[in-house]
Amino acid sequence: MTAEPQPTSSNSLPSLILRAIQATIGIGPHALHSPIFDGREQEYVLDCIHSTYVSSVGEYVDRFERELADYTGAKRAVATVNGTAALQVALQLAGVKANEEVIVPSLTFVATANAAHFLSAVPHFVDVHEETLGMDPIALKDWLSSITEKSDGGLRNRQTGRRIAAVVPMHTFGHPCNIELLQEITSSYGIPMIEDAAEALGSRFNGKHAGTFGQLGCISFNGNKIITTGGGGAIITNNVSLANLAKHLTTTAKVAHRWSYIHDQPGYNFRMPNINAAIGCAQLEQLPRFLKSKRDLFKAYEHSFHSALASSSSSSKCDQTAITPIKIFGEPVFCESNYWLQTLILPADQAEFLNETLTLTNDSGIMTRPAWELLSNLGPYATCPKAPLPVSTSLAKRILNLPSSAGLV
Ligand SMILES: *Cc1c(COP(=O)(O)O)cnc(C)c1O
Repeated sequence: MTAEPQPTSSNSLPSLILRAIQATIGIGPHALHSPIFDGREQEYVLDCIHSTYVSSVGEYVDRFERELADYTGAKRAVATVNGTAALQVALQLAGVKANEEVIVPSLTFVATANAAHFLSAVPHFVDVHEETLGMDPIALKDWLSSITEKSDGGLRNRQTGRRIAAVVPMHTFGHPCNIELLQEITSSYGIPMIEDAAEALGSRFNGKHAGTFGQLGCISFNGNKIITTGGGGAIITNNVSLANLAKHLTTTAKVAHRWSYIHDQPGYNFRMPNINAAIGCAQLEQLPRFLKSKRDLFKAYEHSFHSALASSSSSSKCDQTAITPIKIFGEPVFCESNYWLQTLILPADQAEFLNETLTLTNDSGIMTRPAWELLSNLGPYATCPKAPLPVSTSLAKRILNLPSSAGLV
C-alpha cells in the first residue's frame, strides 16, 4: 500500500465517539450539564420568600453553611455570591497583596487567575500531571527550586523580584489532584496553599474532602456545577479565625452593633443571599444521589467506549493502527471523584480528530466541549510568568468533555 487507508466516515474516530456516547445516553439532544431541581427546592424558596428574609441574612444561609461544613468535614463554611468571589477573599486572607505572584495551573477555568488579578497580584502558571489533570507537585517543586530564593519577606521569584504569595491547585472536573504532596511541598517552602475546589464538592483524596487540605478551599454553586444555588460559592476552612475574617470581609466589614454603621476596613458585598441558600439546602439533600448517578454514568461510558473500540478493531483488520484505545478519564489512585464532568482524552497521535469530533457531536445535538484555552495563552495573561507547560499544552488539544448531567443513565 502506498498510503494509509482513509477511515470511512462511519468508522472514523469522531463517528465512533458519537456512537458510543449515543449508545450510553441515547440519541439526544443532550446538554453538557443541566441542574436538577426535583427535591425540596420550591418548598424552601417559597418558605424563604414568606419569611421576607431573601437577602444577606437568614436561616437558610446559616443552615447551608453548617451543613456544608458537616458534609465536607471542614470546621467552618462561609457562603459567598459565587466561587470567584470566594477565591478572591481566600487569597486576600492568605496575605496576597498587589504586585505579588500567585501560582496557578495553566489548565484551569479563567476565574482561578482572575481572583489573583482582582487583588492586583500576578498569576504565575505551572504545569499539570497527566494522571490527575491537576497541578503536578514534582514539576512545581523543581520549578520553585530553580527560580526562587528565600528572602526576608518570604519566597522570592529571582526572575521577577516579586514575592510568591500563594499556590492555588485546582481539582479538574472534580478529580482530586495530588493534594497531599502539594501540601507538603508548599509548606516546606512556607507558601500558603488555597484550593480551587470549585468543581470538587463530593470529591475526596485519601478519604478527606477536597478543599480541606489548604488554609482555605473554595467551592462554586454556579448553575453548571454538581449542585447549584443559581449563583453562589463558599469558602471552607479548619481555621476558625480565618472563617470569621472571611465572613467579616464578605459582609462589608461591618462591626456588629444594634444600629451603628461602623465598617473597620473596605469590605465586600460578597455574601450569598438567603434565597440562594434555600435552593442550596435542598440541593445538598440530593448530592448523594447525584454522586451515585454520576459514578454510574462514568461506568456506562467506560463500558460503551470499551466495546465500541473493541468492535472497530476486530471488524477492520488493516485499520488497527488507526484506532488506539481512547480513555475515559477515571478517578486517580487514592481518590474518590465526584465525576462532575466526564472526560475523554484522545491519544496523543489522534489529537487532530478533536475539532472534527466537536463538530460532529455538537451538530448531532450532543453537547461536548474542549478543555479551556490555556490561561497562559489568553490575552490578559499572556505576559505572566510561567513554567514549561508540556503536559498542559498536550492535554489541552486532547480533552473532550461529554454530556455529564446526573440522571442520564
Ligand atoms: C466554576 C469555577 C470557578 C468559579 O466559580 P463561579 O461560581 O462561576 O464564580 C472557579 N474555578 C473553577 C475551576 C471553576 O470551575
